[in-house]
Amino acid sequence: MSYLKSTPNRDGFFGEYGGAMLPPPLEPHFKEICEAYDRISKSADFIAELRQIRKHFQGRPTPISYLKNLSDMCGGAQIYAKREDLNHTGAHKLNHCMGEGLLAKFMGKTKLMAETGAGQHGVALATAAAYFGLECEIHMGEIDIAKEAPNVTRMKLLGATVVPVGFGGRSLKEAVDSAFGSYIEQADTALFAIGSVVGPHPFPLIVRDFQHIVGVEAREQFFDMTGDLPDMVAACVGGGSNAMGLFSGFIDDESVSLHGVEAMGTSSKLGEHAATITFGEDGDIHGFRTMVLKDENGDPAPVHTVASGLDYPGVGPEHAHLYRTGKANYTSANDKEALNAFYKLSRHEGIIPALESAHAVAFAMREAPKNPGKSILINLSGRGDKDIDYVTETFGFGDDQ
Ligand SMILES: *Cc1c(COP(=O)(O)O)cnc(C)c1O
Repeated sequence: MSYLKSTPNRDGFFGEYGGAMLPPPLEPHFKEICEAYDRISKSADFIAELRQIRKHFQGRPTPISYLKNLSDMCGGAQIYAKREDLNHTGAHKLNHCMGEGLLAKFMGKTKLMAETGAGQHGVALATAAAYFGLECEIHMGEIDIAKEAPNVTRMKLLGATVVPVGFGGRSLKEAVDSAFGSYIEQADTALFAIGSVVGPHPFPLIVRDFQHIVGVEAREQFFDMTGDLPDMVAACVGGGSNAMGLFSGFIDDESVSLHGVEAMGTSSKLGEHAATITFGEDGDIHGFRTMVLKDENGDPAPVHTVASGLDYPGVGPEHAHLYRTGKANYTSANDKEALNAFYKLSRHEGIIPALESAHAVAFAMREAPKNPGKSILINLSGRGDKDIDYVTETFGFGDDQ
């Protein structure tokens, strides 16, 4: 059986990672989601409607661009980018949010719920809710609300209710707790929509399935463009959804190596990076088993990166599995390398990337000179409009003005 059909197993395990460790009141609701997803996602009506949405609302297929100037500058391998930045709303997150919204509609739910950190998932989910005519409730830490004001404005314009979370560190972790608490009260009528390939089963599977379109399109487009498959594919890894989308298109191709790029932040010291696979150990977080960055008490450690979308002390269980089995390679890029890539791609290709995606660009720039004659396909997960004020106010306009 192909890898994707056989993984995860029925209990949601990718090897030893994944599963669902839920508070008892949520168990029946997750069981309902598993059963509904199994049935609905295979129905012709669901598949047909999702195809229409991909094409006429999201603007898929997104193209692949050959980054000729960057390839010439780096020397060595040829670099290509799958342009998820050209999705409506500017990132790959809409791929799974539209899928989750459609699933909610087919399940007869009236509301989508989630937590958000920097607000990117909240905006994508609020977009899906508006499209499907569903209510939307987003929990967000007060610190993040202050930091990410434009995303809060977007969510409100899209009709979402933003619930400020004022306890503890008033950030992402507390927003998760708050959102789950509220979901327990409303699980009959609401669907909790997780924002990456993380969380209890079946979400790592559901989100991978909805991101799979990225890899399917990319494989066909790359072959059309070059007559061959890429030698290396690479993507940044926060929770790991854009990476699983691209990887899943090539996972049965022996000749293609898969590379996840984590955020090394400002240094390899605990608290100054978000490189979970690079430095983490096995553990449990938010209801599933995976690799986790832990502090001295064994709790999830604080993380830092210039790219707030990569700021998570855990990682999708499938990535832990792909790492342990050697099916994919994991490495990192630090803030400085990501910023350099951000400036270079903007200036020499006319594409301002999200700081998250810039980590994948940095990987390609580092690997290209070492791999002459080869090709590297990266996932450009999002556009950088959200980052331009922060980058230019903090770091200026780059060296080669
Ligand atoms: C949220 C986000 C990411 C990180 O999420 P993954 O689940 O690891 O893909 C990467 N890029 C962009 C543009 C994002 O908004």
